[in-house]
Amino acid sequence: MTAKLIKGTEIREKILNEVEEEVKKIKEEHGVVPGLVTILVGENPASISYVTLKIKTADRLGFNEVQDNQPEDISEEELLALIDKYNKDDAIHGILVQLPLPKHIDEKKILNAIDPDKDVDGFHPVNVGRLMIGGSEVRFPPCTPAGIQEMIVRSGVETEGAEVVVVGRSNIVGKPIANMMIQKGPGANSTVTVVHTRTKDLAGHCKRADILVVAAGVPGLVKPEWIKPGACVIDVGVNRVGEKISEKTGKKVAILKGDVDFDAAKEIAGSITPVPGGVGPMTITMLMKNTLKSLKFRLGIA
Ligand code: NAD
Repeated sequence: MTAKLIKGTEIREKILNEVEEEVKKIKEEHGVVPGLVTILVGENPASISYVTLKIKTADRLGFNEVQDNQPEDISEEELLALIDKYNKDDAIHGILVQLPLPKHIDEKKILNAIDPDKDVDGFHPVNVGRLMIGGSEVRFPPCTPAGIQEMIVRSGVETEGAEVVVVGRSNIVGKPIANMMIQKGPGANSTVTVVHTRTKDLAGHCKRADILVVAAGVPGLVKPEWIKPGACVIDVGVNRVGEKISEKTGKKVAILKGDVDFDAAKEIAGSITPVPGGVGPMTITMLMKNTLKSLKFRLGIA
């Protein structure tokens, strides 16, 4: 059996088209567009490439996109003052601080200073609490888990009553996706188990999963014999395992591998996400969706 591929690149296009349509409609009816500011401190090359991608996507969707680059030696006070400025700016609906920040700045302090109603990353404790309560309380589900849930739902996988096993308990993937899948409602209503480095029988838990979400950051951790035949496998892991010369550009690029032994797993699973091209493209997509949602909350039409 060969599993159906769940392609993040295709699902991304569908969602971005939906967002674009909605942005046009809101602009016509209310005369406003979503405003997203991206604050980048310093010149970390990986951060620059993430931010560039975010800006490009926001531009394509017709957002009011503000790029605020700050020097590496900006003080914590100055950065807090900048956040305060954007918190008060009515044209801005989403504030994004690109991580990591330089060592002299307390990341937690900065992220907690963002107005929770503009925290489109969904990392502020208020939004974590809202997510835990669920239902209409939820404002901004964190982007990677929100992308995972969209992929599961849009590929037609039944979540109601499904055994979901999440490998990994990080605050940005494992814990929030587990929390989202136990909620009452469509795309959830699952029975969730979270496994981690101290779990006794990792393989035994994984084998029971109708939906297996793997976010460990360990290449090839999940073996094919851990997968229940027909299961939906979502591989969140992005691991650099080497370098190669790109055929397209002739430049050196990283070889990326997921946390699942893909070639063998696809013969057992019912559906599976590839790495790259699976969960990866969904994160920025959901960030855009959250920014639109923030404007809709402001307009009272969410
Ligand atoms: P993390 O390091 O914060 O957490 C990893 C979790 O996996 C930990 O809770 C740990 O207990 C668990 N774990 C690690 N090794 C394990 C093992 N051998 N057995 C069982 N559990 C184990 O990582 P993270 O931020 O959650 O990211 C996980 C992976 O997902 C990484 O590869 C990261 O690059 C990737 N990621 C991708 C996206 C995306 O595609 N958009 C977003 C976030 C993270």
